[in-house]
Amino acid sequence: MPRPRSLDDWQDLVAGLSIRSQAFIDGRYVDAASGETFECINPADNGPIASIAATDSEDVDRSVAAARLAFETGGWSRRAPAERKTVLLRFAELIRQHQDELAALETIDMGKPISDSTTIDIPGAAGCIAWYGEAVDKIYDEVAPTPHDQIGLITREPVGVVACVVPWNFPLLMAAWKIGPALAAGNSVILKPSEKSPLTALRVAELAMEAGLPKGVFNVLPGFGHTAGKALALHRDVDCLAFTGSTAVGKLILQYAGQSNMKRVWLECGGKSPNIVFADCPDLDAAAEAAGFGIFFNQGEMCSAASRLLVEDEIREPLLEKILTFAGTMQPGNPLDPGTRMGAIVDKTQFDTVMGYISKGQEEGATLRTGGGRALEESGGWFVEPTVFDDVDNDMTIAQQEIFGPVLSTIRFDTVEDALRMGNDVQYGLAAAVWSRDISKAHRVAKGLRAGTVWINCYDAGDLTVPFGGFKESGNGRDKSLHALDKYVELKTTWLELGG
Ligand code: NAD
Repeated sequence: MPRPRSLDDWQDLVAGLSIRSQAFIDGRYVDAASGETFECINPADNGPIASIAATDSEDVDRSVAAARLAFETGGWSRRAPAERKTVLLRFAELIRQHQDELAALETIDMGKPISDSTTIDIPGAAGCIAWYGEAVDKIYDEVAPTPHDQIGLITREPVGVVACVVPWNFPLLMAAWKIGPALAAGNSVILKPSEKSPLTALRVAELAMEAGLPKGVFNVLPGFGHTAGKALALHRDVDCLAFTGSTAVGKLILQYAGQSNMKRVWLECGGKSPNIVFADCPDLDAAAEAAGFGIFFNQGEMCSAASRLLVEDEIREPLLEKILTFAGTMQPGNPLDPGTRMGAIVDKTQFDTVMGYISKGQEEGATLRTGGGRALEESGGWFVEPTVFDDVDNDMTIAQQEIFGPVLSTIRFDTVEDALRMGNDVQYGLAAAVWSRDISKAHRVAKGLRAGTVWINCYDAGDLTVPFGGFKESGNGRDKSLHALDKYVELKTTWLELGG
């Protein structure tokens, strides 16, 4: 079949989609035990897509039992790493083969541009699963430097049943960052996608089976956080919970783990990242484009969004002019149109949140330089104009709280010390950037920034080889890179006395 190229092609593809709406437990699609469903809505027109199984604690019990049985019987957990690699590579290949279908599902489910789903989300998810598949048969365990008549082995074992609770902004990609390493390490996995974006997770469940994952090893539970998500976090037979989402919910997950079995909890949470541009920035055009893209890409629904532009005062106006020009190229459009660069906000609740922050910024005295309004209202969808605020103080609400929408706060500074102080003066520590041609200054500032990732003279760059995660209240875990595998294994010491 030829690949879709135009809006009409994509609309035809969407019209022919068959949507998986049931939970995937123990190798098959099933209704929620309660029979309850919830509506999945297309944010581009607020129209219904499907009624999805609303799983809760009974379904969690069923899927944990299936996952535990699969783990104990060893069809995956005790399989040779090279064999797990073969299955994961096949899984990644099946995702690639279904790329257009999965991209269309992602776009109608959460509103992102189809050009992003096809070039970033779906290939990124396939690439991630393949990367961990490729890695897993190349990692050696350790032998300790013991005396001559003793041997100390340090081995990695899968932790057991791993629950992955993920958000809606990159539904399949964030899931892949967790299920890739968790499956590669030999665990049984239960994935709970966000209730706002369950479609791709449900579809790839059967692709995982087709690739050769034994039943029970990969389960998908659509449902709400306060029911299915909470039940997973409180379950005594879940060994590890890997969470990506808001800081507020991350704190609840820590409590649930403490109230139950002290399961390992890995948190990848929110951000309010400073993008610091010094007057000696090597390329103002590049900095402007990166600043604009860093906040408008994915409708600003990005944990690592460049939401605070800290700019040295003498270049503030020229830089802002360039960012405003860039914002003009990011006006929202139909997410299924391949020409669209910014799509719809995920739903009315998030739309109202973003608009509330825009009003708050104006009330608190920031200057609105562009945007601030709803776009494409006639579509019935939830579109927000790319929005730029100037004259923002770092203690204003729009500078402190995560907006998760296309809203840039511009904050001026005069000295390196001011930039560093304000850069760090938020509860979060996920990412940051520094623009300067003085490499010593850039490194000094990078070292001073309390953030999991610092980009120098770029924004949001990188690949799977480097870890991603936060300092402070942005979380405690790291996705991507070989370090992510550590989250899904237990270290075991085996001490052997050789005797006479
Ligand atoms: P959210 O915290 O509302 O929900 C995330 C997931 O947790 C969803 O699956 C949800 O159903 C579930 N959940 C909600 N309440 C729960 C509860 N009481 N118990 C268990 N599970 C519960 O976050 P969101 O709105 O889906 O996503 C946006 C957030 O995710 C932002 O804060 C963003 O910064 C963050 N995020 C972080 C990263 C990262 O790598 N650090 C990446 C993407 C998104």
